[in-house]
Amino acid sequence: MMRLPRFKYVGPRSVEEACRILAAEGPAAQIVAGGTDLFPNMKRRQQTPKTVIGLRRIESLRARDVSGAARLGASLTLTELVRDRALRAAYPALQTAAFSVATPHLRNMGTIGGNICLDTRCNYYDQSFEWRRSISFCMKKDGETCWVAPGSPRCWAVSSSDSAPALLALGAQVTLASARGERTIPIDALFADDGIQYLTKKPDEILTAVALPAHAGWRSTYLKCRRRGAFDFPILSVACAAKMQGDTVLEARLVLGAVGSRPFLADASHLQGARLTDDAIEETAEKAAKLARPLDNTDLNLTWRKRVARDYVRAALREVRGDGPQRVPTGLLPECAGVS
Ligand SMILES: Cc1cc2nc3c(=O)[nH]c(=O)nc-3n(C[C@H](O)[C@H](O)[C@H](O)COP(=O)(O)OP(=O)(O)OC[C@H]3O[C@@H](n4cnc5c(N)ncnc54)[C@H](O)[C@@H]3O)c2cc1C
Ligand code: SF4
Repeated sequence: MMRLPRFKYVGPRSVEEACRILAAEGPAAQIVAGGTDLFPNMKRRQQTPKTVIGLRRIESLRARDVSGAARLGASLTLTELVRDRALRAAYPALQTAAFSVATPHLRNMGTIGGNICLDTRCNYYDQSFEWRRSISFCMKKDGETCWVAPGSPRCWAVSSSDSAPALLALGAQVTLASARGERTIPIDALFADDGIQYLTKKPDEILTAVALPAHAGWRSTYLKCRRRGAFDFPILSVACAAKMQGDTVLEARLVLGAVGSRPFLADASHLQGARLTDDAIEETAEKAAKLARPLDNTDLNLTWRKRVARDYVRAALREVRGDGPQRVPTGLLPECAGVS
């Protein structure tokens, strides 16, 4: 049985108090929301905070306003988002992404803030302490070498959050609070393409809220590729949001998730003002799929994962065009399970 290491737990009642504690404790402290990512990581000694600051008692982080535009407190659980009918109608990509996270129990505990700040994943890292010690650890924690790309100066661990690509496609902004004050940034600016420093958030900042722009005229969708339909982290995902007038695109955002250390915004500028024809969809899918340069550090065959990226983008674009639910290649196909 894997046990948690010893740590001090504090449960502040306000964001201000949480920020003060975080500033005083320094990098040895870490925030916990639902704990569905942090506590397993602590058991595996991937993360070893001396102080854990719980957000559960901070009421303001559970606020929610979904009228016109939306503002979601960081501590809202994924289940609360999934069950919110107004949110579901306005931002289907977010609702689908939240619903695809883990299992009902984990969604009851897991929060939107925790999902956005989810640690990056890698087959050489998401292992027990003993397993990692047997390979002399790796660059992301306690070691020096990247076993996925030995000689690489950086870590390639994969952004595996389901909500992150959806929020990026929806044009979300996040609010970060610290003892120094508050700032709001586009969620795109929160992510960095580095498996270790995957967030630009400062260590003393707490993500307090997510804001979504008004949804009138927008359609959105989220498609996720994983081994098991019941529950699994994404190994490729595509989120798409488009403001349409008939079959003409006024504005569109297309995002690929789980193909690198952050979600990537694809260039969809050529769609602006254009009709979303089959040819336009094919051209966009071809271009966007080039962003998928997966490495052999997650599940399933990497050549297959790269190949199906185009199918997922095409399907997402057809869904926002209004073609209805599309079939996509699944992780259950025999050809995707082979060793790459
Ligand atoms: C079996 C299993 C399957 C899973 N499957 C999926 C999946 O399919 N898709 C997926 O996306 N995730 C998956 N997860 C991961 C996790 O359950 C979810 O990502 C969940 O939403 C994390 O939220 P949390 O509140 O529990 O985060 P926590 O564990 O509390 O925190 C996660 C990280 O975010 C930081 N953090 C949390 N809240 C804040 C905040 N407000 N401000 C600043 N930092 C913060 C913490 O310090 C920590 O580093 C899975 C987990 C398990 C155990
Ligand atoms: S990508 Fe390399 S450094 Fe990063 S977690 Fe995997 S093996 Fe470690």
